[in-house]
Amino acid sequence: MYPTISTLPFSKGFLELGSDFLTTLDPSPLPHPNWVAVSHGLAQDIGLDSSFIQDQLSLDILTGNALPNHLQAFASVYSGHQFGVWAGQLGDGRAITLGQIKHQDQVWEMQLKGAGKTPYSRMGDGRAVLRSSIREFLCSEAMHGLGIPTTRALAITASPATVLRETPETAAIVTRLAPSFIRFGHFEHFASNGLHQQLKTLTDYVIQEHYPHLAAHPKPYVSLFEEVLKRSASLVAKWQAVGFCHGVLNTDNMSILGLTLDYGPFGFMDKFAFHHICNHTDSQGRYAYSNQPQVFYWNLVRLAEALLPIIASDHTDEAMEAAIADLQPILSRFAHLYQQDYLQLMSHKLGFGGEVNETSTQLIQDLVKLMDQNHLDFTYFFRKLAQIVVQPQDPIIRNLAIDITSYDAWISRYVKYLDTLHIPKDVIASNMNLVNPKYILRQHLAQMAITQSQNGDHSLTQSLQKCLTRPFDEQPEFEEFAQLPPSWADHLEVSCSS
Ligand code: AMP
Ligand code: MG
Repeated sequence: MYPTISTLPFSKGFLELGSDFLTTLDPSPLPHPNWVAVSHGLAQDIGLDSSFIQDQLSLDILTGNALPNHLQAFASVYSGHQFGVWAGQLGDGRAITLGQIKHQDQVWEMQLKGAGKTPYSRMGDGRAVLRSSIREFLCSEAMHGLGIPTTRALAITASPATVLRETPETAAIVTRLAPSFIRFGHFEHFASNGLHQQLKTLTDYVIQEHYPHLAAHPKPYVSLFEEVLKRSASLVAKWQAVGFCHGVLNTDNMSILGLTLDYGPFGFMDKFAFHHICNHTDSQGRYAYSNQPQVFYWNLVRLAEALLPIIASDHTDEAMEAAIADLQPILSRFAHLYQQDYLQLMSHKLGFGGEVNETSTQLIQDLVKLMDQNHLDFTYFFRKLAQIVVQPQDPIIRNLAIDITSYDAWISRYVKYLDTLHIPKDVIASNMNLVNPKYILRQHLAQMAITQSQNGDHSLTQSLQKCLTRPFDEQPEFEEFAQLPPSWADHLEVSCSS
């Protein structure tokens, strides 16, 4: 066990790539820091002794007030497409990486989000507010609890210092960890600047560190693209199956490891709406729930374009055509891969055990329409469905439906299909409870935690984190978190301001 942050065995990792890829700098201090919340599960995963929160130096390091001599912090440069438009150079404008650690064969980069200005801050102040830090912290750890690939969050630390957004808000930092924070935008950066040697260095680094099994492939860059595409398809399928919307699915927020990355105006849907837009600023609905798989595909095309210069060994027309011929069939498999992953997840949610056939697919498609038309609460519906399996007459969801006739018709087809599976109903129900979360980070729960934390009481933030670590388990002490949201939650809006 490593007792504190400063005793973690930091190594250089990404830092070794050098100055074309990053700028070394120190985090900017935040005065009078305090702990807001800690993920003890993640602390354990990286080999930290949970008592590190009693260590003043750990708190100082995580708020930019101290940097042990052996650490060289840095911010990395990337570019990207934002809302479908080339945005040019972006980069870590407020996230500063402390270094890489390895624990039990797993590497982790540790990054302070909100640790001050970097050369990539553009007009930003390099800071993050308590509000958005709580949302990122809770959602990272909730996603992990749901079994969805994500960057993780070790701690929120805060300071009485204020940061100006629409109003003055409390400054905070999320300490986040991931095997790598490399984005599609890192590749786009070097490709768009014609820096092909650096593009190759970056891609070789990603393969060596994160996809080592691809190194011996005859076309490792093509294989890398294929793996990233598969992981991305699987990730967005998982999001859809829990009713999650990212909100800012720009290429600079797409992880090369297929992780959920950069929690801004995200949301888990309460009342289901197929075209739900979770980001108040996204007036066109580019990143609406219904569009997310298509956006992943669009972003993957941007990644494919960025990789072209190194897949085509020389830049003759023939080499380019051959590279495109390698990538095109992979891209064209995306829709099918996504659909397969999605239908399988939904099949598990409905108690069909992963079986995908014409009837199960039709039932899923009709259910999506039914939920949309009846504004059924996504999480509540699936969790309570297990109850209906055992007792089809249970009115618990029927009472929420608007179009009772359609609801009854779907349930009757559903129950009939379940009968054909010849599996005891209680077995089906308990399997469903393993994949349909009881607890989810609803907007109003996050908002209540934020309001209390802003008033100095962090207990709700901490309880929510604890609860969401085990979203599938019955936790009677947290029953209130599983209730349908109050009516004021209908009007909550989340914007990019963070
Ligand atoms: P996002 O889409 O929110 O993940 O961020 C887009 C870009 O804006 C990234 O380069 C961020 O680092 C940068 N950024 C966002 N907020 C700030 C801030 N307060 N200060 C500096 N840079 C920021
Ligand atoms: Mg971002």
